[in-house]
Amino acid sequence: MFNKKTIRDIDVKGKKVLVRVDFNVPLKDGVVGDDTRIRGALPTINYLLEQGAAVILCSHLGRPKGKVDPQYSLKPVAEYLQKLVSANVHFATDSINEPAETAAAALKPGEILVLENTRYYAEEEKNDPEYAKKLASLADLYVNDAFGTAHRAHASTEGVTHYKPGVAGFLLEKEIQYLSSAVEDPKRPFVAILGGAKISDKIGVIKNLLNKADKVLIGGGMANTFFKAQGLEMADSLVQDEALDTAKEILAAASDKLVLPVDVVIADKFDNDAVTEEVAVGNVPAGWRILDIGSKTIELYGKLIAEAATVVWNGPMGVFEMSNFAKGTFGVAKAVADSNAISIIGGGDSVAAIQESGLADKVTHISTGGGASLEMLEGIVLPGVAALEDK
Ligand code: AMP
Repeated sequence: MFNKKTIRDIDVKGKKVLVRVDFNVPLKDGVVGDDTRIRGALPTINYLLEQGAAVILCSHLGRPKGKVDPQYSLKPVAEYLQKLVSANVHFATDSINEPAETAAAALKPGEILVLENTRYYAEEEKNDPEYAKKLASLADLYVNDAFGTAHRAHASTEGVTHYKPGVAGFLLEKEIQYLSSAVEDPKRPFVAILGGAKISDKIGVIKNLLNKADKVLIGGGMANTFFKAQGLEMADSLVQDEALDTAKEILAAASDKLVLPVDVVIADKFDNDAVTEEVAVGNVPAGWRILDIGSKTIELYGKLIAEAATVVWNGPMGVFEMSNFAKGTFGVAKAVADSNAISIIGGGDSVAAIQESGLADKVTHISTGGGASLEMLEGIVLPGVAALEDK
């Protein structure tokens, strides 16, 4: 259950509403790449405009490290937004102070103002009260619709709520509802699939999901650390030696819920043109490394996914950036898309895999936030959500 107020619960007519969106989109030479996050914010923006609000949008973009850096300007994003909405989109060259204050004061109901990158100020990530107060002073009300940054207590996600009442936008609400109901009240069997390079980033997630899910399928470099913890030879595979004790602990506690690959694709070098072989785990010769899950594993994981009623997937099964080691990741993507389960995908790599497969419309929910969705899977309350008004 989502127990925070949303934009449905407040009257915004004639009000200036500051909306924290996640416009952290890929930009190259001023051209917007994947626009999923911009489109994801449209339901909230359009609703507020229809209700007679003046909408002030703020966001970070990239990592300008607290300094003005034109390559991270939100201006091209504002121009892109103008193509997607019928309302007038204005742009302020600063997120606070005179440029923002003048533009916000002049903004009329039914219009949009995009503020410049909040991370041009180091105060944003430090959650500085003065910066948050100035940002909040631009508007009457605050809306958080930036799920991708809701796991950070920054000035524009948490600090502002100390100065203006905050409610959730539709995207934030939708993300939290899908992820929290999958984890807290899943239709069973509930199968979680975790991949990626390292287990250290996902220890909390694995532990929490072992309590909640019926099966946790492991792939990617992460699996190697578990294999080594079982005493198997990993040769030149990516292994996190510093996480071996944790891996042993998890294996001891996990019983048959934790499912590891039964076979793997190995390569004689870290290169798409490497000589490759499919072998049972434990047979990695000296000088070779594991770069993908094998076909028996794809089949096994596919079967478990097909039997599931809820599937959550985060992280690639191999080095999918190289086509010869992408079979595992694309195999899992297909299995998730083919299943009748409620399916939720988070994390940039898994989302990219499902989109490249052309199967994105076959999954229930694609999360716009990698880090934030992982923290939800870990059972952590996101500070940007906690700060909003209770229902
Ligand atoms: P993460 O950021 O932890 O989700 O990890 C994603 C990265 O893990 C991707 O760039 C993959 O190439 C990498 N990866 C997946 N499987 C392996 C593997 N077996 N060996 C090395 N890197 C891997």
